Amino acid sequence: MAASKPQMKIAVLTSGGDSAGMNAVVRAVVRIGIIKGCETYIIREGYEGLVRGNTHSQDTKPLCKTEFTLDYQVAIPQVIDNLRFGYGSLLKNGEGDIDEQGIATTKTLKGKYIVRVGWDDVRSWLSEGGTLIGTARSKTFRTHEGRLAAARNLVLEGINALVVCGGDGSLTGADVFRQEWPELISTLLKNGSITSEDANAYAHLKIVGLVGSIDNDMALTDLTIGAPTALQRICEAIDNINSTAISHSRAFVLEVMGRHCGWLALLAAVSGGADYLFIPEKPPSDPWEEDMCQVIQQHRAAGKRKTLVIVAEGAHDASLNPIRAEQVKTVLSERLGLDSRVTTLGHTQRGGRPVAWDRILPTLQGVEAVNALLEATPSTPSYMIGMRENKIIRIPLVEAVNMTRAVAQAINEKDFEKAMSLRDPEFIEILGAFKATSLLDDSFKLPADKRLRIAIMHPKSLLWLRASDSVGAPAGGMNAATRAAARYCIGRGHTPLAIHNGFRGLLDDKIDVLSWLRVDSWMSRGGSELGTNRTQPDVSLGAVATQFQKHEFDALFLIGGFEAFTSLKILEEARVHYPAFHIPMVHLPATISNNVPLTEFSLGCDTSLNSLVDACDAIKQSASASRNRVFVVETQGGKCGYIATMGALAAGAVLVYTPEDGINLDVLRNDVAFLKTRFSIDIKGEAEGRLVVRNEQSSKIYTTEVISEIFKEEGHILFDSRHASLGHTLQGGIPSPLDRARAVRLSMKCMAFIESQAAKLAKQPEKKRRATSDSAAVITIQGSLIVFTPVREMLQYADMKNRRGTGTWWSGMKDLVEVFGGRTALIPS
Ligand code: ADP
Repeated sequence: MAASKPQMKIAVLTSGGDSAGMNAVVRAVVRIGIIKGCETYIIREGYEGLVRGNTHSQDTKPLCKTEFTLDYQVAIPQVIDNLRFGYGSLLKNGEGDIDEQGIATTKTLKGKYIVRVGWDDVRSWLSEGGTLIGTARSKTFRTHEGRLAAARNLVLEGINALVVCGGDGSLTGADVFRQEWPELISTLLKNGSITSEDANAYAHLKIVGLVGSIDNDMALTDLTIGAPTALQRICEAIDNINSTAISHSRAFVLEVMGRHCGWLALLAAVSGGADYLFIPEKPPSDPWEEDMCQVIQQHRAAGKRKTLVIVAEGAHDASLNPIRAEQVKTVLSERLGLDSRVTTLGHTQRGGRPVAWDRILPTLQGVEAVNALLEATPSTPSYMIGMRENKIIRIPLVEAVNMTRAVAQAINEKDFEKAMSLRDPEFIEILGAFKATSLLDDSFKLPADKRLRIAIMHPKSLLWLRASDSVGAPAGGMNAATRAAARYCIGRGHTPLAIHNGFRGLLDDKIDVLSWLRVDSWMSRGGSELGTNRTQPDVSLGAVATQFQKHEFDALFLIGGFEAFTSLKILEEARVHYPAFHIPMVHLPATISNNVPLTEFSLGCDTSLNSLVDACDAIKQSASASRNRVFVVETQGGKCGYIATMGALAAGAVLVYTPEDGINLDVLRNDVAFLKTRFSIDIKGEAEGRLVVRNEQSSKIYTTEVISEIFKEEGHILFDSRHASLGHTLQGGIPSPLDRARAVRLSMKCMAFIESQAAKLAKQPEKKRRATSDSAAVITIQGSLIVFTPVREMLQYADMKNRRGTGTWWSGMKDLVEVFGGRTALIPS
């Protein structure tokens, strides 16, 4: 196929500290770049590789470029033109070497730092931790000479667009490079290193930054690539420490990474149920020793058998004197007599396989990075790709870099208020939530007449549905939300009433008061501590109302999925008949199916995605071991394809089937054609296993087994097929830290909602209180907003028959699965 002139020659590099998800960035940039008609390159060892360039010109030829004679037309020929250059497995399994400057490199690629890569060279990179193309801290790039060499190498290789993935240092470097570029080009022209044609052709450098940093320390973006995985590693360590801490009644001081940013420490403290926290942005009140001992003494007096203190690496007191984990330990041992230990997690925080979100985020951001480069003109700024709530955004690189520096500067100037104000609102909210759920004192208490009896329930089944209609499962984060609500209630003087076993339990008087200590370990517990009741017989609303009255509920907090939503709807509609329901009622969506209307996320879906990705990684490995195999994996999710689609994107599946789109013969025929094409262009004997994800309710006829059989039959000698159902494993064991933190944050907001609605109601005469419809609401995440939507309004966004929302933000992700899987490129639609 004749290659046309590439749109752009894009190179991608990873720099600074490594983070999980960097490989997903490279994969995304390479594949989307190719789809858009670009040539794609990787630069090894970060800026150092850019400075060194390719010293041996004879080595710059591709190792292999398989030629194909295809007797049919493919949709996007560039993919065939750029299928592989032979460096993928070298980068993955390359023999290491240390060069004269102490930089670790790959022996086989000695002297070659700018390498052309193709579609298959980045195959299976999603699940790899760290960065396969290497990273380094380059002193040379900090110098003008270094950057001059870097500019020359880019021009010599014909590269006119650069993607840099790294932390604030690396992006500062990118910004410096961008600013200096015109001067670098004119110097290169003057000293004869490049021609005047080159100087004209490369007058403008297109550059875009992606934030790969485990610390989540970049301003103007909510989440950096690698931070969710690092947090996961920390929380796994905390969960492990907790059991030994309880056994010996010990105190543990855990030091986590974060020089100028306390995000990891804060999120770990919230998700891990820590007792005390030290972060750089908000030093404790002086003297910290006394403050900490007082808090921990209160916790011990309440009966806690363990103590956990989290210290960010860059923690200090208000005078900027560092606070080290060892110091904290000494204070705990000497002043409180606690058997105390220090655990420094160090590099384990960086490592390991990326969690689902560290595959999805870099994939989406990689797409946006290539788009930004293609749209760049000399007059547009260079962008950093970020994320705000649930939106991928472009931010001028220079602004993000300056703002990030401003936080560090504010801390250095002891202006902690300013440092906090420069952090995103979520950071501030989560810090507030940590205090509200960990402190055990009277400073937050409301006056006696404002205190409420708040009922908390995990309803799972609809009040009036038959048992067979009741689907769903406990979702990760339900217990964390309950713990947060109970602790908040206790802090405010409210009474948190736990209703066990849903509405059945309510009728059976299975109600008790939650204590501060009882919920202590609930952060990390999967399942539902309050229990749910699947087989719900018809119950009378009158009996429910009687129980509301008997137990004097002032408010109801429902944590659950579509059933909780429907229950709320029914209770709200029944207000006309039952005064007992004229109380504030709020529903916090928690379901792995993520099928509650309007909200973009439910508690539990992050945990579930992680379980899916874990299972798919294992399956894919086994499929690869047996080579030419297609594995059809079935997921839960009811009539909602969220988990299947996002799971497929995160696991690198080539196809996904959802109930929303259904399956028909035409779809299957094209999918078979795609799989045949795909396997036929693999190197013989080196085909890899491929994954297809199917939601359990995508089709009544084309079941997982049937699809697998069709693939097997049609695959002939090219490939065979197996299938597996993930079933209940997707409910996840231990909730993910992101689910736990989200649970705490949203639960706090629900409590504030209840208080404000109760205050409105309290203005009416006691016996005649009539709640307005906005007092029965669902807390929903909509783009960058968190909105309490009255349950009545929710109905217009609900598809009650299929038990899901009518519109979904993630529907375009199915297309993306097909783009990254190669389906879009190979089969004309
Ligand atoms: P991180 O990107 O993880 O914050 P560093 O701060 O070590 O890591 O930065 C990584 C690399 O970025 C440095 O080794 C250097 O090559 C480059 N870099 C950082 N700051 C600058 C700068 N001001 N000018 C030029 N290059 C820089």
